[in-house]
Amino acid sequence: MKFATFAACSEELGATSSRNDMTTLLARLLATAAPDDIAVVCYFTLGDIAPGYSGVTTGIGDRTVAAAIALAAGTTPLSVEAAARETGDYGDAAARLAGAGPAAEPLTVAAVHRGLMDIARAAGPGSAEREVETLAALLSAATPPERRSIVRLATGKMRLGAGDMTLLDALAEAYLGSKDARAPLEHAYNISSDIGLVARTLKSGGLPAVEAISVTLHRPVRPMLTQRVARLSEIPERIGSPAIAVEEKYDGERVQAHKDGDDVTLFSRRLTDVTHQYPDIVRSVQEHVTAGTVILDGEAVAFDHETKTYRPFQTLMRRRRKHRVGEVAREIPATYRAFDLLYMDGASYLRRSYPDRRAALEAVLSPDENISPADRIVTGDLNAITGFYIACIERGLEGIVCKSCADDSFYRAGAREWQWIKWKSDYAPDLADTLDLAVVGANAGRGKRAGTFGSILCAAYNPEEDIFQTVCAVGTGFTDADLADLSRRFAGATVDRQPARVMATPQAAPDFWFVPADVAEVRGLEITESPVHTCNWDPERRRGLALRFPRFVRWRDDRSPEAATTTAEVAAMFRRRRGV
Ligand code: ATP
Repeated sequence: MKFATFAACSEELGATSSRNDMTTLLARLLATAAPDDIAVVCYFTLGDIAPGYSGVTTGIGDRTVAAAIALAAGTTPLSVEAAARETGDYGDAAARLAGAGPAAEPLTVAAVHRGLMDIARAAGPGSAEREVETLAALLSAATPPERRSIVRLATGKMRLGAGDMTLLDALAEAYLGSKDARAPLEHAYNISSDIGLVARTLKSGGLPAVEAISVTLHRPVRPMLTQRVARLSEIPERIGSPAIAVEEKYDGERVQAHKDGDDVTLFSRRLTDVTHQYPDIVRSVQEHVTAGTVILDGEAVAFDHETKTYRPFQTLMRRRRKHRVGEVAREIPATYRAFDLLYMDGASYLRRSYPDRRAALEAVLSPDENISPADRIVTGDLNAITGFYIACIERGLEGIVCKSCADDSFYRAGAREWQWIKWKSDYAPDLADTLDLAVVGANAGRGKRAGTFGSILCAAYNPEEDIFQTVCAVGTGFTDADLADLSRRFAGATVDRQPARVMATPQAAPDFWFVPADVAEVRGLEITESPVHTCNWDPERRRGLALRFPRFVRWRDDRSPEAATTTAEVAAMFRRRRGV
């Protein structure tokens, strides 16, 4: 393809603001591209010279580009800089300044690409001069619109506004008749992260060849993403499978690890190569992953080996550097928590269910503190999910990711669907605060808890009326020692009728009433309106406020019941949560 064709199209693209028009223009351009050119045309359209994950970019600086334009136009870098200031960009400056004029042989897309690749690869002594000469040679042979495009590509500023999905639409329109046929192309792109590869394959082998594109080592798979819900209680229904895997959510960096024997490549969430940043994770993958070839998905997290706790994302980001990487890695070691396996020993695992992939992951990893599968439970019970979530928060984790265990729980590269749902602590700000609640009663324990209490009825204090109004019955969060302590703590506290200062509905009435004396610190998931509990009671609507999914934290023997959280404080938390 002549470079002039691409340059003309990019001028038109720059002038259109309609996505449909953009798709049509691109479809026309792509339809005329030869099999050897089409990949490059795709990269150029996105402002790149190679697939994003390869890390191959030119991105040359202003001084180099000014020197190259000056050399091609027979002027000084100072006058080029002045023209760039006036036009606002070096591309326009290059277009405006006269060059030697187009060569007898018109420039081709392939020739421009070769030149830009040479610039990208130039390194070592004299490389700056070689970059200037190579770019000047291209510019000398170019027309004004071509010069504009070449400079913008060379400086990494080719912003045509066409994204990956527009380009896929255009490919579908050009080769499959309509952009509605994009799905298989998008799928191939999601598992290869290389739109040029998809285009070249489509051009040369048609749809069957595109459908045969598979997961390949050292080529990142676009990561599967998580959905979110407004309430934790929505998760089971949204996921829809009877069994749900509830995994710890780590606050680090998403890292996809490709192991090919001893050769390990790590890719970030944005598919850039971050191998050099994590020499410790490279070592862990080399030493603890037993398969010869494997692709893992997971999170790199900063880890404190002394306290055995995770450190925040900001700490990990201090490792984002080019120099002294090894030294900083020793200061801030990273652990790899793998949560998926996408490929092993030549086979793609994307179309296997999550339970299968997880079993393969566990089989292939010999875990230690530096690398291990994400901790998790498998359950269908909302109470168990909530309990696991609260335990995660208490250990300083960010939250949970719930994953479908259904037969079709495939790894959906690049997709954000309901198979994976995240729930983070900042969705439930109430939870940041615990409540200190007066204990006003208890229910008898059953089963394992026979002989002691199964739950305690807790109340907030209403100072205006000097009464205790119930908020929740707490049955979880107790250790065995706490449980044994319950019967000792409340032995003799029982009174035979509801104490005068305790307000409770008949539905909340416990097996045993206590005169308020003890205060428990309780953590809950959220505060909701409830006909059962009397905190902030509205007599007309016959509704109070309840703390949902409460969990015992510890006794507050330093507090009197009148120093418990007040009903007004609970009401304020409820209003804050609802944004009123
Ligand atoms: P998103 O990735 O959904 O666009 P984001 O980048 O803001 O959003 P989060 O909202 O924190 O990230 O949630 C998703 C991210 O959580 C994942 O991309 C991954 O990096 C991280 N994560 C941590 N633990 C897990 C886990 N067990 N399973 C899946 N993802 C996890």
